[in-house]
Amino acid sequence: MTNAQPSASHFINGQYVEDTAGTPIPVIYPATGETIATVYSATPAIIDAALTAAEAAQAQWAAMTGTERGRVLRRAADIIRDRNRDLSVLETMDTGKPLQETLIADATSGADALEYFGGLAATLGGEHLQLGDDFVYTVREPLGVCVGIGAWNYPTQIACWKAAPALTCGNAMVFKPSEQTPLGALKLAEILIEAGLPAGVFNVVQGLGNVGASLIEDARVAKVSLTGSVPTGRKVYAAAAAGIKHVTMELGGKSPMIVFDDANIEDAISGAINGNFYSSGQICSNGTRVFVHRAIKDKFLSRLVERTKTAVIGDPLDEATNFGPMVSDTQRQQVLGFIAKGQSEGARLMLGGQAIERDGFYMEPTVFADVTDDMTIARDEIFGPVLSVLDFDDEDDVIARANDTGFGLAAGVYTNDLTCAHRVIRQLRAGTCWINTYNLTPVEAPFGGTKLSGVGRENGKAAIEHYSELKTVYVATGPTEAAF
Ligand code: NDP
Repeated sequence: MTNAQPSASHFINGQYVEDTAGTPIPVIYPATGETIATVYSATPAIIDAALTAAEAAQAQWAAMTGTERGRVLRRAADIIRDRNRDLSVLETMDTGKPLQETLIADATSGADALEYFGGLAATLGGEHLQLGDDFVYTVREPLGVCVGIGAWNYPTQIACWKAAPALTCGNAMVFKPSEQTPLGALKLAEILIEAGLPAGVFNVVQGLGNVGASLIEDARVAKVSLTGSVPTGRKVYAAAAAGIKHVTMELGGKSPMIVFDDANIEDAISGAINGNFYSSGQICSNGTRVFVHRAIKDKFLSRLVERTKTAVIGDPLDEATNFGPMVSDTQRQQVLGFIAKGQSEGARLMLGGQAIERDGFYMEPTVFADVTDDMTIARDEIFGPVLSVLDFDDEDDVIARANDTGFGLAAGVYTNDLTCAHRVIRQLRAGTCWINTYNLTPVEAPFGGTKLSGVGRENGKAAIEHYSELKTVYVATGPTEAAF
């Protein structure tokens, strides 16, 4: 294990805390199946300590100026960048994702969020509304204690994407990572303290879903932000509703990518590869339904297969590797189950489809052709390296088919026709769309889903709305009139 490994399971009130009374959770390196660490699920005492620390620290943090808060976040961003390699190795051990990816897409993306929201902190405020001689002003206030709950595919990025806007607005946070990838958020907590964050403002507790559920139910919590699946989202949203708490829900997807016959085919294939095989396909916004115009379908498929065969599958710590294992055997088995279903329902397997015989949870990047809208692989979120190509002839028809899903996270269009691109995107029901690229999520741009894919937005100025609320103050300058 690297020397960057966290020294205990939880991080509360500015320090690492251990409580071995909790259920042990092994941290498994997906490339070998070896246990590289053990964390202990939070006991009720740990959960209470984290919430108590957060509640106690929040007022002091909120009382600091935005400039002061922003400085802490920006220092944390600098520390993350200085230690990017160590943090990336840790992220690779935690998730199995190739170091080639984690070096550029995980801790650095977290640093971008801390830098961006740190920069916004000093600009946050309300407005002044003149009403004759009277006037109203609004004050942008933090919500209080926020809970963040993460998925396992981007553990450090998810922790930063939630912590950065929450802390910028003057909130405190208790973050619960996925039990499969508990390490990155602990390093973030450690770095924030080093950057000058007051103890208790950002805390991390480990555990399964029940720990997340206990956090949400606690009366001290004002908001929950979840990144996870739709079924978990339903439970978390319902639990938050019981306390009328604020929510951000970043949930799953089954996003369409539409490739018109005038598109640059190599670029469209690059988009399809990025949008299906990066992180071994374990990305919520992936364009897993690739609608290809029938006129270019054969060429698209043959080049897609040819290029996908060149994936370098191997040791994720070798920087030449660009396709790593799945996060767990359970996830791999689930994906293989979908592949079997795709074959039994009549899709044409063009490439892959098998587990790879070696240590760890590897499977082949998989391409299906002749997929139809009613097949399970075209309807359910697979969350693995399975790309489905569907044919189309007509623009209106493909828009209707693209929208015929309960999800609405993302969508992409490849075409060189400017008017077609905007016309189509305008009609797609998705929170995040791309034209002639796929899966780019810069921190400046709001990110999130519509329909079952979520509520609220992360990143961009939009995230501020989800971690603060306005207090309205009416100021009278004349006498107070009354009826009697
Ligand atoms: P899960 O929904 O299984 O879990 C998400 C988190 O919620 C985990 O930390 C989990 O804990 C926790 N959890 C589970 N049950 C509860 C509960 N009742 N109350 C509170 N917390 C609970 O998702 P995965 O981790 O399997 O991640 C994959 C999913 O995440 C996919 O559907 C994917 O699309 C989605 N996702 C969405 C993204 C987006 O931004 N829209 C980005 C990345 C992923 P534990 O697992 O430790 O038990």
